[in-house]
Amino acid sequence: MYSDVSLFIDGQWTPAAAGRTLPVVNPASGDEIGTVPHADRSDLDRALEAAGKGFRTWRRVSAYDRSKIMRKAANLLRERADAIAPLLTLEQGKPLPEANGETLAGADVIDWFAEEARRAYGRVIPARAEGVYQLVVKEPVGPVAAFTPWNFPINQVVRKLSCALAAGCSIIVKAPEETPASPAELIRCFADAGVPAGVVNLVYGIPAEISEYLIPHPIIRKVSFTGSTAVGKQLAALAGMHMKRVTMELGGHAPSIVFDDADVDLASRLLSTNKLRNAGQVCVSPTRLLVQEKVYERFVGQFTAAVQAAKIGDGMESGTQMGPMANPRRIAAMEALIGDAVQKGASLKTGGNRIGNNGNFFEPTVLTDVPQDARIMNEEPFGPVAVIAPFRDFDEVVAEANRLPYGLAAYAYTRSAKTAQAIAASVETGMISINHHGLLARGAVWRRQGQRLWLGRRVGGDRGLPQYQVRHASRAVAARGHCRWLSSVSSGRSIDIFD
Ligand code: NAD
Repeated sequence: MYSDVSLFIDGQWTPAAAGRTLPVVNPASGDEIGTVPHADRSDLDRALEAAGKGFRTWRRVSAYDRSKIMRKAANLLRERADAIAPLLTLEQGKPLPEANGETLAGADVIDWFAEEARRAYGRVIPARAEGVYQLVVKEPVGPVAAFTPWNFPINQVVRKLSCALAAGCSIIVKAPEETPASPAELIRCFADAGVPAGVVNLVYGIPAEISEYLIPHPIIRKVSFTGSTAVGKQLAALAGMHMKRVTMELGGHAPSIVFDDADVDLASRLLSTNKLRNAGQVCVSPTRLLVQEKVYERFVGQFTAAVQAAKIGDGMESGTQMGPMANPRRIAAMEALIGDAVQKGASLKTGGNRIGNNGNFFEPTVLTDVPQDARIMNEEPFGPVAVIAPFRDFDEVVAEANRLPYGLAAYAYTRSAKTAQAIAASVETGMISINHHGLLARGAVWRRQGQRLWLGRRVGGDRGLPQYQVRHASRAVAARGHCRWLSSVSSGRSIDIFD
């Protein structure tokens, strides 16, 4: 089922020029299941040249035609989901229904951006003089370099790719080496749907070597990265040195607040299920569970029992609720964070250990009495570990929720409309879910990181496309039925509306 993966450059599936490959490992068994090519400079040069050529082609394809091709790619992804989802589970570990859901949700993302492509409206701005027309149109920023991680191999690529294509940009995707086959199949859907050669390119290799080469390169005009805050800062600095547009989606440390008046059964059920989703390797995973004193003991008991009851196993097996962690780095990270917390006085309610010696399985873990200076109270755990802490009153919980510089997501449970409104207004995250854990629909999503923009943002909704566009302003005067261009700002490309 799983086969070796190729690079995709200038419309061709190809091995790396030097023939180098890296192994791909099934995280549930530790077995090698395939290989992924390792691009070197000559592959990257070909990808850059292709992206430059692809941009010149794609920017001239009308928004209507771009939209049609994208919709075709979305339909292909839906049709192929049953074949693609097992590849995702085999390389990443998540349960098959989650992999299937991620694939199908990817198709919806493509459709959404396909619609946005046709809504890249410009403006007509009143001029001082009669007969002068001032136009602002939106144009694609240029070839994009996108770096995506392994936790959602399809979802993390499809958002960047669809947004770039909708805006009229070409793109080089550096997809994750650990989970390469499912993003490759996503890109195959675009190729088969008729995206012209060079518009979409896919490479793998040594991440730092690739980013250090692509980001400063003059062909690349925009950089998008999802991953850790530490790497994000490095790449943003590099992009800044070369004056490149940048979009970063980095870590999270979601406060999840349960007030005394909450439906505790609902809160413990939703929070435990979502803590274990994708083995906690989710940027919006609930992390600091802050529970008001009166319901604290009850919540800790219910939440702990729920995670203990979860079925852990190979994601390909029916009924598995939590698969392995995606790579051995996460096991080491869990052991270090839990060890540090326990050494500083935390109580281990359940879990804390690796399961078996095959694959990257780790017990769902609950920590209480964790001191504020423990690493896990300050660093994103990115694993199946929850910290539960009691709080007395509203002001105390808001202070704790806003203590960290992460600002991606928060959750709150209360039966009071007044408390719900107050907490939504007080917690400084881009997104807060109340009595619910669902993510926002694509049209509404602009996961601004609250007031902590330096940690980056996830882009969706009506703020997605502008990240991949530049504004082009022109002034024209109409005389004797003709139009003479007076001036043009930005790219200098004139528009032939009046001539
Ligand atoms: P990482 O930041 O090293 O890697 C994340 C992704 O970025 C990987 O796909 C990797 O190949 C790529 N990457 C790493 N260094 C790069 C570089 N110099 N240039 C270009 N790409 C580079 O992190 P990791 O060890 O894979 O995961 C650890 C942490 O990353 C997690 O604890 C979590 O905080 C964060 N993370 C966040 C997300 C997210 O969705 N926001 C996803 C994955 C990882």
